[in-house]
Amino acid sequence: MGSHRIAVMPGDGIGKETIREALKALRAAEKLSKGALKLETTELDWNSDYYVKHGRMMPEDGIQILRGYDAILFGAVGDARVPEHVSVAQTILAMRRGLDQWANIRPARLLAGAPCPLKDKQPGSIDFVVVRENTEGEYADVGGSIFANTPNEVAVQSAVFTRRGTERILRYGFEMARKRKKQGLGKGKLTSVSKHNAQRHSQVFWHKVFEEVRKDYPDIESHFLYVDAACMDMVRKPETFDVLVASNLFGDILTDLAGVVVGGLGIAPSANLNPDRAAPSMFEPVHGSAPDIAGKNIANPLAAVMAGAMMLDFFGEVVPAKQIVKAVESVLADPQAPKTKDFGGKALCSEVGDEIAARLG
Ligand code: ATP
Repeated sequence: MGSHRIAVMPGDGIGKETIREALKALRAAEKLSKGALKLETTELDWNSDYYVKHGRMMPEDGIQILRGYDAILFGAVGDARVPEHVSVAQTILAMRRGLDQWANIRPARLLAGAPCPLKDKQPGSIDFVVVRENTEGEYADVGGSIFANTPNEVAVQSAVFTRRGTERILRYGFEMARKRKKQGLGKGKLTSVSKHNAQRHSQVFWHKVFEEVRKDYPDIESHFLYVDAACMDMVRKPETFDVLVASNLFGDILTDLAGVVVGGLGIAPSANLNPDRAAPSMFEPVHGSAPDIAGKNIANPLAAVMAGAMMLDFFGEVVPAKQIVKAVESVLADPQAPKTKDFGGKALCSEVGDEIAARLG
């Protein structure tokens, strides 16, 4: 185990509340390690308040400052005072692109005690990971508009699929399927999600690269699904999935669906990885700032806590990462343990966080 420098960006709304609880769990894991794990955290107030004061969500050299850390623990941004495409572009998208966090990893595992909207699903029966391309594709910032606010107004947005970007994300997915199989966690299966029957250029290209890359992984059972079929199967038979790889937009939509299938935004974590480790990776709950429940201390902190565990795992701190996951699992599975409203309880965000920290102790 070692020492790690973490930039903590709680952001707006419930991000501030859930990241506070994630830090409690990380501190408890640190204490449990008896000095073997050291987490040096720096809190950065880069959020919508910062925007109101400075006209931007983070300092001009923000990305450069973040490069000085080993990882970023991020909450959420979103506030009525800042247009959402601005707050997201200047934080989440700026970090993903500026720090080349090209792999977005969103695990979906049904835990005992999590509210599954599908009938008769047993804990553990759903266990898959969506690997989403995170820096290009449909979210590439390429496009423009003309004749604004006239009847002739035109908007054009282009998707960008590079060989480098497409190949590396597919390879990452195959490597993950291999690793999960070796660890006894997965089925050794990969699903490439595409839409090459309708998008003749970018998606035919994606599928061509998939066909090339899969030849290097004969030990992995691989196939493709059109994105609409993948959405249906995620509801009809989610237990058949192991690793899914998708473009930026398809992955974004699929992972929200995946999150709901295993209990909702309250428990969905995500990692934005720079797998080359050339810059810090970013770990965040999938949920946004949720203005409707912000400031009430009632948000579910489990997603942020699990994001913290993913961060430790990426550092190679496998033992404390597992300890945090186990603590979350034990709180969830215990009918007497505090739960937030979205999980059928009445507990506060901080009470759930305290319970997780106590179980780590
Ligand atoms: P943003 O604009 O920042 O994305 P949002 O409210 O549009 O925020 P989310 O925060 O992602 O979107 O979530 C949508 C809704 O789901 C919230 O309004 C809230 O009611 C619920 N929700 C999200 N996260 C949580 C959580 N951690 N605990 C409880 N409920 C949550």
